Amino acid sequence: MAPSFCPPSRLLLGPGPCNTPPEVLEALSRPTIGHLDPAFLELMNELRERLGRLFGTKNQLTVPISATGSGGMQAVLANLIEPGDAVLVGIHGVFGMRFADCAERLGAKVTRVESDWGTPLDCKAMAAAAAGKSFKMIGAVHAETSTGVLLSADRIDTLRDAADQSGALLVLDTVTSLAGLPVELDARGVDATWSGTQKCLACPPGLSPISLSARAFEAIDQRTTPVSSWYFDLSMIGKYWGSERTYHHTAPINMLYALHEATDLVLTEGLDERFERHAAAARHLWKGLEELGLELLVEEPHRLFPLTAVRVPEGVDEARIRADLLDRFDIEIGGGLGPLAGKIWRIGLMGMNATTATADHLLNKLAKVLNE
Ligand SMILES: *Cc1c(COP(=O)(O)O)cnc(C)c1O
Repeated sequence: MAPSFCPPSRLLLGPGPCNTPPEVLEALSRPTIGHLDPAFLELMNELRERLGRLFGTKNQLTVPISATGSGGMQAVLANLIEPGDAVLVGIHGVFGMRFADCAERLGAKVTRVESDWGTPLDCKAMAAAAAGKSFKMIGAVHAETSTGVLLSADRIDTLRDAADQSGALLVLDTVTSLAGLPVELDARGVDATWSGTQKCLACPPGLSPISLSARAFEAIDQRTTPVSSWYFDLSMIGKYWGSERTYHHTAPINMLYALHEATDLVLTEGLDERFERHAAAARHLWKGLEELGLELLVEEPHRLFPLTAVRVPEGVDEARIRADLLDRFDIEIGGGLGPLAGKIWRIGLMGMNATTATADHLLNKLAKVLNE
């Protein structure tokens, strides 16, 4: 029988999802078993341990949430924030805005520190905003996929100091950094984070690895109101992933097979080797783009390796270029968001696509469509 839907074969070089390796796709198609099957419990234990290595943490609660990256954000923030809490969020792109919006909807009093899109977050301004005040949480985005800007380790350290001064938890969005850039939660003193599977992990979208420190759990214990989200109540989810194995919701079994396979590929390659591969592919891409006469949005020291933002040259119809790449060459790249809509392209070299050969293939086809 013919499949009911047959997707076209695309090279996914946008901000995510990226292509999924055949081993991971094959894992998805293995027979479904019960979510309390002893064999499955073994997979769960291995997954927690592997995600801990990817995140650089010994945190007890390091698990995949049954949701996309935004669902992981909702889960973490819904558990840590109570109505009326003061939250400080750094914003220089779409995902910082999303963070602030989510916190506000949970009843937080949000203070925003904004930096220009395409520039790094001004962490001194964050520290100044926190000085002498008490905050429940200081938050930022580690890898801002809407602009291609990194929050460097020294900037995270500045935020950690500010959090210590104001008694706050430090919370980072690591959706685009996990498995593509060093995350190192414990070394940086990050209290809580969420990520996604469809970026540098090269797994289909649908799961959000998260991690919470003991300090974050204390904050949950001290809540005076119950977590408003039943589905995302981490105390209950922790009981399913912990030794109690109490049923909460049916785990997305086959997705977890896929994540198990994807983390296996990451750790077999080696984290440092994988980071180096992402870096080499990105540097190769940057050089090639500049040789085509294109200008990059972000200054080199602040650039992300997995995601590069390129300025659309004067007089070029950016949507036509993206449509041509897709229609003629089966290549997907991303456009700009918010104030950068129509002004940039976003090129992702993530997971299995982070190679110089893939960068060359794109550069070749991009040159073709630009010249016509
Ligand atoms: C993609 C992305 C998200 C959202 O993840 P979804 O899986 O689309 O919900 C959040 N933050 C960042 C930095 C992202 O790149």
